[in-house]
Amino acid sequence: MNLKDKVCLITGSASGIGHGIAKRYIADGALVVIADLKLDAAQKAADELTAKGLGKAIAVEMNVSDEEQVNAGIKKVVDTWGRIDVLVSNAGIQIVHKLEDFPFSEWKKLLSIHLDGAFLTTKACLPHMYQAGSGAIIFMGSVHSKEASPLKSAYVTAKHGLLGLARVISKEGAAHGVRANVICPGFVKTPLVEKQIPEQAKDLGISEEEVVNKVMLGETVDQEFTTIEDVAEVAHLFAAFPTNALTGQSLVVSHGWYMN
Ligand code: NAD
Repeated sequence: MNLKDKVCLITGSASGIGHGIAKRYIADGALVVIADLKLDAAQKAADELTAKGLGKAIAVEMNVSDEEQVNAGIKKVVDTWGRIDVLVSNAGIQIVHKLEDFPFSEWKKLLSIHLDGAFLTTKACLPHMYQAGSGAIIFMGSVHSKEASPLKSAYVTAKHGLLGLARVISKEGAAHGVRANVICPGFVKTPLVEKQIPEQAKDLGISEEEVVNKVMLGETVDQEFTTIEDVAEVAHLFAAFPTNALTGQSLVVSHGWYMN
């Protein structure tokens, strides 16, 4: 099971979990596309990863909720490398508010990045995957694809939605050799999570330590954060699995926070 010379597009991969997945894929010899909001950050990540890995990376500027930018970015990949084997729709944000205080504009922004982003990138990749007769689509879900938490109405709604979209892609894509799966991580210490600690402490009226130990890790079996490397390993499994037996699934990697 390896990704040598496979063209893998990862959204939101200039930092955090997406960057870790890019690193894992490149170590395996993949040709990786770092797609992120800012070209300079994406280019820096691509250059650094290419210098270290077996494979290589290019950078693409892409706001995943902008159809024109998504289509232009995917065209650039196909013009450069001729195909797309793996899509990891990973770009995401977090916004926390109580429901009664949730600004509608922020609700729409979050849903657009997570759900429109997954839809638009999938839609743009599918014709190339169908033409090749193969492809792996991976969505970055969350334990919040299966569980709910206070303050996270938009995020929980979006992450549950990704399960449905992945199942439809599995059914429509099967005849064309395309599979779709969802990774559901527990809390991983990235900028997205660091930002939430003081915000949740304020909204819930508790200390930052309590946010970490009770809210974030309280339900895990060992009070440990999931790591970027843990998530990247699952992303590697879904991308490199040799057949399409593994489709329409979601895999929770969360130190036992959620068990199914
Ligand atoms: P992060 O903030 O560290 O990185 C997110 C990346 O996405 C950044 O590089 C950012 O520039 C990019 N991005 C944001 N909006 C974008 C847009 N519109 N178009 C393109 N790129 C955009 O976050 P992270 O923790 O690495 O999260 C990555 C994914 O993992 C998200 O979907 C998140 O919901 C999911 N996730 C994170 C955790 C966690 O605990 N960190 C847990 C479960 C799931």
